[in-house]
Amino acid sequence: MPLQLDENVKALGSRAQAQLTEQFARIDAIAQENTARVLAAFQEHRVAESYFSGTTGYGYDDLGRDKLDEIYAQLFGTEAALVRLQFVNGTHAITAALFGALKAGDVLVSAVGAPYDTMLGAIGVVDKGHGSLKDYGVEYRQVELLDNKPDLDGMAKAVADPKVKAVLIQRSKGYATRASLSVDEIGEMCQVIKKANPNAAIIVDNCYGEFVEEKEPTHVGADLVVGSLIKNPGGGLAPTGGYLAGRRDLIEGAAMRLTVPGIGGECGCTLGQNRSLYQGLFLAPHTVAQAVKTAVFAAKVMELLGYDTEPRSDAVRHDIIQMIHMREPEALKKFCRGIQFGAPVDSYVTPEPWDMPGYDCPVIMAAGAFIQGASIELSADAPMRPPYTVYLQGGLTFESGRLGVLLAVQELLGRA
Ligand SMILES: *Cc1c(COP(=O)(O)O)cnc(C)c1O
Repeated sequence: MPLQLDENVKALGSRAQAQLTEQFARIDAIAQENTARVLAAFQEHRVAESYFSGTTGYGYDDLGRDKLDEIYAQLFGTEAALVRLQFVNGTHAITAALFGALKAGDVLVSAVGAPYDTMLGAIGVVDKGHGSLKDYGVEYRQVELLDNKPDLDGMAKAVADPKVKAVLIQRSKGYATRASLSVDEIGEMCQVIKKANPNAAIIVDNCYGEFVEEKEPTHVGADLVVGSLIKNPGGGLAPTGGYLAGRRDLIEGAAMRLTVPGIGGECGCTLGQNRSLYQGLFLAPHTVAQAVKTAVFAAKVMELLGYDTEPRSDAVRHDIIQMIHMREPEALKKFCRGIQFGAPVDSYVTPEPWDMPGYDCPVIMAAGAFIQGASIELSADAPMRPPYTVYLQGGLTFESGRLGVLLAVQELLGRA
């Protein structure tokens, strides 16, 4: 019986949770505020059953799709938005944003070190010759971190060149070791960038950040936010897709890249999925709170066991990711195995490290999700190299996330 928890593990869980009342109250308050914003947007746009029916074929005049764009625009405080199932993942949506904003001779600057691994091929840092931005004549520059923090002076210098037409800011750390950025920090960066170059579009990779705070980067100066629907804003229900919200010209540029220049966002049927996008967005503030609670709980439990965590359990959160330094490979594998045993889907499989394309060492992944690869559902992954750090994220319900974490701990400690 894999779900059988030892008494000592149960006690550890209770002890951890008892020390988290303050954090949990803060997380609940944010979820309350964001739920009110979402509900207000639904009501102002008079959401009705007829929005859920959707289209086939070309997808012209899809009322539910077009209204959802408006609702996203309202939530992110922007002129326009594009929410589409046709984005195959977050990388695709971010790439469409970059291709829409840049043309030959322009320069793209990444403001906080290297972007997310999968963006390297799209930009042309690696894998040249497949139609990357670089192949199309867009130059790429990168502002390195200073003491693992954003370098505001370096940013001002790097963007001052008038050829710089877009600046990419990644809110979440991804697989980097820097801290994820708060919305206020992004606001400060936007001020510096706008002062040095008012014409550069500030594009924020918003993955894992949506609804973790009460504001979004577009409320503090970003021109565009982009993310994945199988992460936070899909609320665990969206079956696939991505979104952008921002300045109208940037949304149109991205839409022309997603489909065809001259057609843009007019086409793109929804195949009866509008309901899950609406319902997912409605649930998203709550679901994100469940994932953040799971992250904070995992941090606390592992701290009680003497492990180093980032962020610490008492830190204010800016995304749903929890890093735990497992220190040695066996401990890392056991932890991931336990997470897998706690999943509602594929709980019987044993994750093993494998050579994933694009990584320089084997990677181990634990996930048992209703939606393939959905990392708003509880999942853990780790490159097999020192300090054997596991990246834990998601949890559709705190109750199930909590169980997953405790099973991981039990696997780690061994049965009593
Ligand atoms: C998930 C993620 C992406 C996009 O990844 P996909 O797997 O393509 O959806 C980009 N940036 C960050 C920081 C992410 O967490």
